[in-house]
Amino acid sequence: MLTALEQLEAAAAVMNLDPAALEILRNPLRELHLSFPVRMDDGSTKVFRGFRVQHNDARGPCKGGIRFHPLETIDTVRALAIWMTLKTALLDLPLGGGKGGVICDPKTMSPGELERVSRAYIRQAASFLGPEKDVPAPDVYTSPQIMAWMADEYSVLQGHYTPGVITGKPPAIGGSAGRSDATARGGIYCVRQAAALLGIELSGATAAIQGYGNAGSSAHKLASGILGMQVVAVSDSKGCIHHPEGLDHEALAAWKKHTGSVRGFPGSTAISNDELLGLDLAVLFPAALESVLTADNAPAVKSRIIAELANGPTTLEADTILHQRGVHIIPDLLCNAGGVTVSWLEMVQNASGYYWKEEEVHARLEERMTGAFHAVHSAALSYKTSSRTAASILAIGRVAEAMKLRGWY
Ligand code: GLU
Repeated sequence: MLTALEQLEAAAAVMNLDPAALEILRNPLRELHLSFPVRMDDGSTKVFRGFRVQHNDARGPCKGGIRFHPLETIDTVRALAIWMTLKTALLDLPLGGGKGGVICDPKTMSPGELERVSRAYIRQAASFLGPEKDVPAPDVYTSPQIMAWMADEYSVLQGHYTPGVITGKPPAIGGSAGRSDATARGGIYCVRQAAALLGIELSGATAAIQGYGNAGSSAHKLASGILGMQVVAVSDSKGCIHHPEGLDHEALAAWKKHTGSVRGFPGSTAISNDELLGLDLAVLFPAALESVLTADNAPAVKSRIIAELANGPTTLEADTILHQRGVHIIPDLLCNAGGVTVSWLEMVQNASGYYWKEEEVHARLEERMTGAFHAVHSAALSYKTSSRTAASILAIGRVAEAMKLRGWY
C-alpha cells in the first residue's frame, strides 16, 4: 500500500495535481470484506476470507484481477486496485480500477475445493459486480477455469448468461482469442520498443525471468519466439535455475507441469534468487509478486532493461537506484498492461457478440502498447523523471480530468 501511495504522491508533486484530486485517489471508493463457508473434500467446513476493492470508476467500470494467495491482505489489494486505476488510464481504456483477493492456498486445494471457493466468492460479491460496475479477471494463482466457474455462478444468479461480468474466460465461453498470453505479449512489445531506443540487438541477447506462472512462462515462449532472445535463467517459488546456452521453453514448461517446479530441470544448475537478479542480461523480467527488487539487491542488478510483468516488483528506493544507474525500467503500469488491454477487448467482444481472430487481437494490442510506450518515454523526457513517475503522471492526469468533468472536485 505504501509504495502505491508514495508513487501517487511523487507523481502528484511533479505534475502539481490539485490536492482534492489526490485525496480522492488516496482512498478507494468502495471495499467489500467477505467471509464465506466452503465444504472441503474431507467433509469439514472451512471459512475463507476475501476482499474486493473498487478504487475508482471515474473513467468506467472498475476492472482488475482476483488473486488467490495464502498471504493476501486488504492492504495489498488496495495498492493493487490503485495500480489498476492508473493502468487502465495509462492505456486510455474506458475503465476504472479494482482488485480482489481470497486468502487461500490453491496449491493445497483440490479442483472441487477451488471451484466451491470461486463460486462462494462470487455469490457473496455478486451485487457488487457486473459488466457495467466491476469486472474481475485472472491474477496471481487464478486461471481461465476459475473465471469460467465465476462467470457461470454469476450468470446463474442473474438468470441469464452474462459473459461480460468477468474476463480471462476460456474462448469456448466468450473469452477473447489472445487473452492467455496477453500480459507477456504486451511486455514483449514494450521490450522491442525499449531495445530500439537503446540500440540493443535483441536477437541472441540474454534474458532471465523471475516467476514462472502464466506471465513468466509466456514471456519465455515469446522472448525466444518473437524476439529471438536466449532465456538463460528462470525461477519459481521453489527454486531458480540457470543455463548459459538458453532454456528451451517447451521442454521446461513440460517439466514444470510434470514436477510442479522449474527446479531440477535437466542440464540446468541451481542458483539463488539474488544470483538470478544479478546476472549480466539484456532484459530481466520480474514476473512474480511485489517488492522483489529492493534497495538491498538493486545495486547488483546488471540488466540493461527491466520489464515489469508483475505488479509492484520494484520498491521506490530500488526504482531510484536503478534509474540513477541507467537501467531502463519499463514500469508495471505499462509493461503488464497487455492483460487488461485484451480484457477490455474481451468486454467489447462480449458486449457486441462478435469475436475477432487472434491476429486482430494481437494487432490491436500492439498498437495500444506501442503508443503507450512512446507516450511514457516522451513524458519522462519532458518532466525529466523516471519512466515510472512519467507513467503515473499520464495516468493520473486522465483520471483527474474525468473526475473534474464529473464534478467530483
Ligand atoms: N490481473 C491483471 C492485471 O493486474 C489483469 C487485470 C484484468 O484483466 O482486468 O493487470
